[in-house]
Amino acid sequence: VEELFAIDPLLSPEEREIRDTVAAFGERRLRPHIADWFEEGTFPAREIAPELGKLGLLGMHLEGYGCAGASATAYGLACQELEAVDSGVRSMVSVQGSLAMTAIHFYGSEEQKQRYLPAMAAGETIGCFGLTEPDYGSNPGGMRTRARRDGDDWVLNGSKMWITNGAVADVAVVWAYAEEPGQDRPRVRGFLVPAGTPGFTTREIHRKLSLRASLTAALDFDDVRLPADAVLPESRGLSSPLACLSEARFGIVFGALGAARDCLAAAIDYARTREVFDKPLAGYQLTQAKLADMALELGKGQLLALHLGRLKDRHEITGEQISAGKLNSTREAIAIARECRTILGANGITLDYPVLRHANNLESVLTYEGTAEVHQLILGKALTDADAFR
Ligand code: FAD
Repeated sequence: VEELFAIDPLLSPEEREIRDTVAAFGERRLRPHIADWFEEGTFPAREIAPELGKLGLLGMHLEGYGCAGASATAYGLACQELEAVDSGVRSMVSVQGSLAMTAIHFYGSEEQKQRYLPAMAAGETIGCFGLTEPDYGSNPGGMRTRARRDGDDWVLNGSKMWITNGAVADVAVVWAYAEEPGQDRPRVRGFLVPAGTPGFTTREIHRKLSLRASLTAALDFDDVRLPADAVLPESRGLSSPLACLSEARFGIVFGALGAARDCLAAAIDYARTREVFDKPLAGYQLTQAKLADMALELGKGQLLALHLGRLKDRHEITGEQISAGKLNSTREAIAIARECRTILGANGITLDYPVLRHANNLESVLTYEGTAEVHQLILGKALTDADAFR
């Protein structure tokens, strides 16, 4: 597809090199194990994170503090190669870099940045990002988690749900309404909560049928006492976590297409060798129509992703544009994965091939970082000036 759409020549030699390095790592280190991790519902985050760190993939687009300072486009291409293996691996990298590290980089004190970012970039310290609650996903402004002052300390109460890396993380970035003396209304602020703080407990979420090679947890805070400097001092209001989400969404614009590309490659390969009614499946017009339509959507998606990458590198991208990319990539990727599954017939439902694993993963990718419907409403508002959220 890259050839069909002449995408390669649009990339710089450096971007191609980063992409190829990540692709080689994925094939060598991750792909041989991914079906087993998925089947077992596990991911060896502690083992893999330092390797991702060595490659400069954690907080890759951030500057300083041991981060690679790569371009947005290069970061997107890396996400695409990781997600070509599995959305769970890309999720780990997104949460560590685009959510937890970005929150500290954007809103942390110099001391917090020095303390956490180099170790997180190296993959020695793992972070998570707790915004969603059991009753508040698409509308995080309704969150119930509260931080109140007690002398200089903060006391945190509440719970978070569906938190990637939650149970394995050394530090949780937790968003809560902070009740501060002298303020008429509580406002959302970010808190750094180290694992092991008394009153902070985590529970791994099992029985997932999607993103099985990713660790997801519920977090509970029961009178968790934190020092004054646990708050991210520059975080003020819900716009702070939303700005982090925007960074992670951008990675998904590229990432989801990696999963789609992997499915299409598997389907083409299969169709060439599978004989039905005495000739290869690939020779039938119906199959070719499916493959052609999928290649078109994949190519168009990749061109849009690249365009958005260039806009982001010029600091010209808007939230609506990221929404458009996230909506398009995830929606088309899941459609492609499901169509590829049909080409593989019964074999397509097994873990011997990647297609249903990707399709199932993409259910989560369609839902997190703003559901498809939320992005439709963001675009709808931009098109009509009418705010459907109110
Ligand atoms: P809801 O908000 O309850 O939505 C249910 C349905 O209603 C959806 O179809 C939605 O689109 C629709 N809907 C919502 N509002 C409207 C509306 N106004 N009009 C029409 N339809 C609407 N969160 C974190 O904070 N950190 C993480 O690390 C994290 N990791 C995750 C990992 C996985 C595997 C998953 C599945 C989720 C993760 N999430 C995480 C949570 C994720 O961000 C939420 O699931 C998501 O925001 C949707 O929230 P919800 O599940 O509560 O669905």
